[in-house]
Amino acid sequence: MLAAIDRLGALVTEIAGLPIDEIVEPQATLAHTALRRAQDALGLISARFLGRIEADGRWATTPMGRGARDFEEYVAKESRGTRSGAKRQTRLARTVTDDAVPGLAQALTDGGVSLEHADVLTRLGPTTPARREALISPDPALNAGHLLDKARELGVDEFAKEVKRWAAKVDPTADEKGHRTATERVTCTMATRDDGVALNAFMTAVDGAAFDAALTAVAGVPSVDDPRSHAQRMGAALGDMARLVLDHGLAAGRSGGFRPHLTVQVSLESLVAQVNALADTTRPERGARGAAAYPVIPAGWDAALLADGTPIPASVLARLACDAEVSRVVFGPDSQVLDVGRSERLYTGAMRRAVIARDRHCAYPNCERPPKFGEIHHVRHWAAHGGETSVENGILLCWHHHAQVHSRYLIIRRDHARARWEFLERDGTPIRHLGSGPDAEPKGDPPSGSCDHGGTPPAPDTLFGAA
Ligand SMILES: [Zn+2]
Ligand SMILES: [Zn+2]
Repeated sequence: MLAAIDRLGALVTEIAGLPIDEIVEPQATLAHTALRRAQDALGLISARFLGRIEADGRWATTPMGRGARDFEEYVAKESRGTRSGAKRQTRLARTVTDDAVPGLAQALTDGGVSLEHADVLTRLGPTTPARREALISPDPALNAGHLLDKARELGVDEFAKEVKRWAAKVDPTADEKGHRTATERVTCTMATRDDGVALNAFMTAVDGAAFDAALTAVAGVPSVDDPRSHAQRMGAALGDMARLVLDHGLAAGRSGGFRPHLTVQVSLESLVAQVNALADTTRPERGARGAAAYPVIPAGWDAALLADGTPIPASVLARLACDAEVSRVVFGPDSQVLDVGRSERLYTGAMRRAVIARDRHCAYPNCERPPKFGEIHHVRHWAAHGGETSVENGILLCWHHHAQVHSRYLIIRRDHARARWEFLERDGTPIRHLGSGPDAEPKGDPPSGSCDHGGTPPAPDTLFGAA
């Protein structure tokens, strides 16, 4: 018997020595399919050996077995694999040994069912007495033969849903219990890292579906030139979802739930110095064209702090201060508060509505995010250059592009002839309006009003012309 396995090893060596690089289609596909079937059949055979090892029991007396909590852990150690992989193999071994899914071994051997399908079936099939009963029953609508037929015709993901439906039908009480267990297991923890926050969460299948739908809706459709990956857009959408709830007071407590959601403390001198440095386009650090070049932020100022004392970088401070309610607190020598004042730097009421009516959606080229996903940016920052909170100085930006404008230090100005906003990189490169709409530009034709590439960037004074 073991000689046969030796011969298999020799055969594998022979196959590996074939001139695979020279094999053309359709032979490559045929070979690939045949080898996958062989792998599935071999997976079953090794699972049966694993079943023998467990039944024999001597594994527990080996040094590795004595150090393992259970058979799965022993298998993982022995094969230097993962616990989840060992669990998968052990599950298949037990299912086949007990013949809990009659016909499974044969289906794997004759290639009708893959190991992946078998894994779904062993994981979701014989999970409760009622389901084990159904699998071996003669009822052709509920037994193992029925599920194996489905495995032969469906892809793995569809098959998993089919088995879940079957499980719910056969033993709905277990699903009820499963849901309760899942409900008890729900969790969400936020771990603060040096550079951000890491989330770890678990939720019920139903909540997961709602969460997925909401996140997808908030993420929206990416614009044609959005360079972010799907995962990056979903990550940003998490923050947007939080802002959406807070901005609209959807989870309002007694305080009404409106701003401020975030409190930032900074000295006026530090704020002005940082915002000034960001807007100073006369001395950008050298960087690749189009890439963000970092301005020189003067050292020595106390950083702005979140309520928990976390310092925030200058560009984030500028963005947060952009559409914010600002309180002035004057401290005396012993930190006693001498004076408190408030000034409106927040676009509210008629002014906000006027900006939204004019811009309609995010004004960044090629972005059409609706107003509820954004805020109003001061084209000339109020903390420097005397930018006022006025309709002329306000521009509607989605949260993502508002962050981009500040973190890439973009230059914005009004193109009065075309009645639209123009965006320029810090080095003066215009950001193009793509697509086929009325805003589109022919390629290779710089938009009117742009400065020449590589020339002197526009001085801050030219950032905005009053309408
Ligand atoms: Zn802003
Ligand atoms: Zn946008």
